Formats: sequence, C-alpha cells, structure tokens
Amino acid sequence: MTTTAMATRPGNPDRDNEDWTDSDPDNGVAVVLDGVSAPVDTGCEHGVAWYVNQLGPALMQSAADPGTSLATALADAIDHVADLHPGCQLDNPATPAAAVGIARQRGNWLDWLVLADITLVLHRTDRVDVVSDHRVDHALDPNLLNAALAATLGTDEHAAAVADMASDQLKRRNVHGGYWVASSDRTVARYALTGRVRADQVHSATLMSDGASCLVNTYNAATWDDVVTIVERDGPDALINHVRDVEAADPDGTRWPRFKPSDDAAVNCLRPHDTEDDVTSDCIPTPRTHWKAFAYEIEPGIRVRSRGSDRLVASAATSDDGNIEVLFADDGPPRVLRRNQMVSVVVDGGAPNRD
Ligand SMILES: [Zn+2]
Repeated sequence: MTTTAMATRPGNPDRDNEDWTDSDPDNGVAVVLDGVSAPVDTGCEHGVAWYVNQLGPALMQSAADPGTSLATALADAIDHVADLHPGCQLDNPATPAAAVGIARQRGNWLDWLVLADITLVLHRTDRVDVVSDHRVDHALDPNLLNAALAATLGTDEHAAAVADMASDQLKRRNVHGGYWVASSDRTVARYALTGRVRADQVHSATLMSDGASCLVNTYNAATWDDVVTIVERDGPDALINHVRDVEAADPDGTRWPRFKPSDDAAVNCLRPHDTEDDVTSDCIPTPRTHWKAFAYEIEPGIRVRSRGSDRLVASAATSDDGNIEVLFADDGPPRVLRRNQMVSVVVDGGAPNRD
C-alpha cells in the first residue's frame, strides 16, 4: 500500500475552497484539483467549488482502475460531471473548470498527469524533477499581467486589473495555441502532460496547486529541495503554513506582487510502496539539477532548442503515413504523433526555444 499525506486550505476562510485533494492509498492514487473561476457569466448555476467537488471523486474512481490510462480516467470523469448538469451552458467558454494533477502507482511504475496550474515534484533517488504546464502562464497578456501586478492588493484598481487579465486569458482557454483545463469537454484530456517513472526510483511524488507552489515560483522563498524536505519531514500542512507566513509578512503585495493576498492551496504527497527503507521522514535531499517538462502542440517543422546551449532537443516532420514524426535528440526512436497532439520536452534549465 502506498503512503499518502495531504492538506488543503482556502485562501480566504470566508470563501469556498476551490482547490480539492484526496488520495486512495489502497489503489495508489493521489489527485489535486485547482478550480478555475472566471469574472464573467459562466452559464452554470453550480459554481467552481461544486465542479471540483464532483470532478474529484469521479476522478478518484476512474483512476483507480489500473487498466485505464490517466488521460482516459480524466476524460471519463469530465464526462461524468457534464452529465450532472445538462441544463447548464456547458459550451460557455467560462463554464467551471479545473487544473488537474494525478499520481498513481501501478506495479513498479508511477504514472503522472499534469494539466494547467498544478505542479508535480518528484523526489527521485538521484534528483528532484519538477513538472509544470507552462502553457497556462504563456496565455497571459503581458501588459495586462503587469497592470494587475502593479496595482496595490486590496484596492478596487487591483481587482479591476486582475479581472481584465482573467477575462482576456479566457479567450485562450481550451483552444489550440492557448492552454487547456478540465471543464465539460473530454477531449482536453489528450492535451495533458503525462509520463511515468519507475516507482522504485521515487521517494515521493508531491502534487500541489499554485497556491502552494507560489512559495518557490512567485515568492522565491524556498527551493524545490526545501519543499521536498518540508513535505516529507513535516507534512503538506506545514508547507501551506510556510506559504501563509510569507504572505502574512507582505499583506499589501509590495514585496511579492500577486493576484490575491492568499490563494486556495492543496498539497498531496504520495510515497510509493516497496521503496528503500532508508527514505525516512527526516530525509533531506541534496542539491540536484532541476528539470522541467514543457508542452508543445506538434506541427511539422517545429524545432525545439535548449535556450542555454542552442542544442537541438526535438524536431517534428511529416511522416510517410501523413502523421507527425517527432525526433528527439537524446531519446532513441522517433515517436509518431497526431497533428496538434501534445508532446512534452524535458530539458535542463529554462524553457527551451521553439522555432
Ligand atoms: Zn452547472
């Protein structure tokens, strides 16, 4: 049986928590959801908190079947929730949505899926891997983002700037070239980042919403190694405490400009069974190279280069059968993918260049 530990907390105690997390140690499944709200009419009378509270249990159930891929499990859960509110405008672009993270141990493999604002931190035997879906960041208009971050937290000007940014970002939700989140259409599941690693090479897999990963990404108040140490030694709730302490020290957003004083946060740490017994709760990781996965929708002619060395990482071409063939510089045989299928490219350092 896997071991899991989790915590979730609303950013504002007077409002619904739109993050959601649960785990099923018997079936080795952990899920984190981060509900995505929209500052416009959504065509749904139920709301984002309702959505994540339906999607989460459906996903726990579908992902518990080891014969189902995580992308299919997500697609099936999306269908299940759509069937629960057929009277709502499910084709409204602002229909309730959620970022999704899943980790699942299946035999000696640890499968994972990341879609939108969920980060996966894999503490492996020789390094810490971090998987983030950066498409959602790139969907922000830089001028509107800067205006939102420039205004003072808690002012009407700040609230209006954040709403302007969010309604503009909505134009790029679940469209090619934009970003993908779970909502009412099962096909978005095919654009999730997915992968698997050998479970006996993983000490822990921690999924977290951006209300927790901001400790590293926004506040620069910790490293990913620190996050692994805090979660493994003190638990997910302690990580959220760290986030809240940092935010409490900067209530106006002067030092760390942000969209809310505190965001909803959810953290779920899964430890595979049959791993080395020397991985104990006081395990402190040594500094390691951080790797990131980046997602690209594949079309012929795309070439991906490492930003630092200009090394060619991957390229795509039309294959003999009309599909797209992706050649990876380091990774053995080419993969044949459908046009616009998502591929994740793993490089060290920053985001690779694409041309
Ligand atoms: Zn509804």
